[in-house]
Amino acid sequence: MRKKVYIAYTGGTIGMQKAEQGYKPVPGHLQTMMSTLPELTHSTMPLYDIREYKPLLDSSNMTPDDWLKIAQDVASNYDSYDGFVVLHGTDTMAYTASALPFMLQGIQKPVIITGAQIPLCEVRNDARENLITAMLIAANFAIPEVCLCFGSKLLRGNRAVKVDAEGFDAFDSPNFPALGTVGIEIKINWDLVKPASKRTEAVTVRAMRESPVAVLRLFPGIPAGIVNNVLQPPLKGLVLESYGVGNGPQDVGLLKGFKAATARGVVIVNCTQCFKGSVNMEDYATGAALAEAGVISGYDMTVEAALAKMAYLFSRNLPPEVIKEKMQTDLQGELTRLPGG
Ligand code: ASP
Repeated sequence: MRKKVYIAYTGGTIGMQKAEQGYKPVPGHLQTMMSTLPELTHSTMPLYDIREYKPLLDSSNMTPDDWLKIAQDVASNYDSYDGFVVLHGTDTMAYTASALPFMLQGIQKPVIITGAQIPLCEVRNDARENLITAMLIAANFAIPEVCLCFGSKLLRGNRAVKVDAEGFDAFDSPNFPALGTVGIEIKINWDLVKPASKRTEAVTVRAMRESPVAVLRLFPGIPAGIVNNVLQPPLKGLVLESYGVGNGPQDVGLLKGFKAATARGVVIVNCTQCFKGSVNMEDYATGAALAEAGVISGYDMTVEAALAKMAYLFSRNLPPEVIKEKMQTDLQGELTRLPGG
């Protein structure tokens, strides 16, 4: 029996058409292009249904409401399909891929997010390969995870980051090996794939709302006054992009501001600006000073995952102490905390 895949088409370059102002999503255009590809009806391909979102979005325009819409869409079609493909713009794909694992509880089927750097309508494009590969993985590999599939890599969604604005291998997961590689064969690294949930109940969606959370990147000479403005209400959570293994300037005004904010219950999570590696605030006095001010470690989480996780936890109206504890705990494979770390 042919497998069945549900395609949630949210927008993005993959289905865009060239207009005077540049590429933009045009309703129906992707489906028209897909209908010209004989390979999509080949017997080795799954059957598919495609739902086009209204409006189609450039992913730069997406908000947590759109993440929720995708999660609810997958959940409400969950029983009728073998796997799910989410067609999405690349710009914020890593954020959506980071958020969905927290929202989609109990999935036992693959949810594969993909897109393209060049639209399907262009003669030379990466859209065709990415679409076909994502459909094949969604149909044939029982990976119970939200994954991001792009170019030659299949990545855990909440470990993925966009690393190249132009290249076809535009995503990577620097702190976690790829779940699979796409070459002559599609090879899955099953040892790394999360075990399927044992729960037999229906898949549930945990809501995600826009929350008063933000990201702030440290830089040499960052003025304490600007940071203190960011830390004021309504802010409830901050991902602080620090240097190296979690260090920051020992500026009295800055540290005073962090201390006052954490004392008020603002959750400040320390993630490194480095592409790769983990935070360890015990290594240097400059990191210990942040810990002393109440900043907690984000370990090896990507900024995208830390932000999505914080928005998710605040959406659940949990008290700051519980949010702090959960931010430092691996919930969905987004964080590795070494023993004693
Ligand atoms: N701006 C586009 C988007 O994120 C880029 C892309 O899809 O590659 O929707």
